[in-house]
Amino acid sequence: MAPDTQAPPARNLALPLTLGFAVVVAAASVPAARALADLLTPAPITAPVIQAAAEPAPPAPPPPAYAFDAPLPGRDIASPFGLRQLPWEEGGRLHEGVDIAAPSGTAVKVAADGVVLRTGVDAGYGRFVEVRHKDGFTTLYAHLGRNLGMKKGVFVRRGTPIALVGDSGRSTGSHLHFEISRKGRPLNPALFMDKTFAQADDLPLKAAARVPRKVRLAQVSRWPEGMKERVAARRAAGKGGVGVATRGEDGRVRVRIQVAAG
Ligand SMILES: [Zn+2]
Repeated sequence: MAPDTQAPPARNLALPLTLGFAVVVAAASVPAARALADLLTPAPITAPVIQAAAEPAPPAPPPPAYAFDAPLPGRDIASPFGLRQLPWEEGGRLHEGVDIAAPSGTAVKVAADGVVLRTGVDAGYGRFVEVRHKDGFTTLYAHLGRNLGMKKGVFVRRGTPIALVGDSGRSTGSHLHFEISRKGRPLNPALFMDKTFAQADDLPLKAAARVPRKVRLAQVSRWPEGMKERVAARRAAGKGGVGVATRGEDGRVRVRIQVAAG
């Protein structure tokens, strides 16, 4: 059979349908005819509401294996992780954390679930809280004001306020010094703050341990008490005071500044 002998069925139907529609529209424009049309028009059949069969909820994605909050949410890092030279230092040394500026009294929140490892007051760090987390991670919060009841062995949930921002220790103004380390190795906290990692392989451990060679000259708003006098004495002694950098067994870089006696 030749295909062109068959008229396409769609074309045959199209004309009557179009006409029928035209008639209905014309009738609707005449009031009397409309009443009749209304009578003839069957009441609209409301489709029965078919309750969709309750589908089993998709399984919730597993929670990320690692979640780190920012200890001061929404506040910027004022001084990053890396080699830094403070105005009273002869050479650069590793700033093992980040400084986050905030007014005194702002609540410092613990970055991840953990157990308080130690608390205390240190000449440099001032009042501090250190928290141990899973898989060898620790976080340190320093230059604190008030400690909010944290002591060794206390379990803390991520986001719990543990202390208030302060200015204790060798500080250059009200801020939080925040460190993250893993197995004693300091890591760049900026790569962890406000981030979650599905599994251990996703942790940016290599990138976070990298210390750029560049030494950044730090701007400080205030010199620690007595520091100017100590630097002046060092210079007057003519020896300048040599910074000797050493890396301790704990992986921390320290600089011993030799101050001439007398
Ligand atoms: Zn700092």
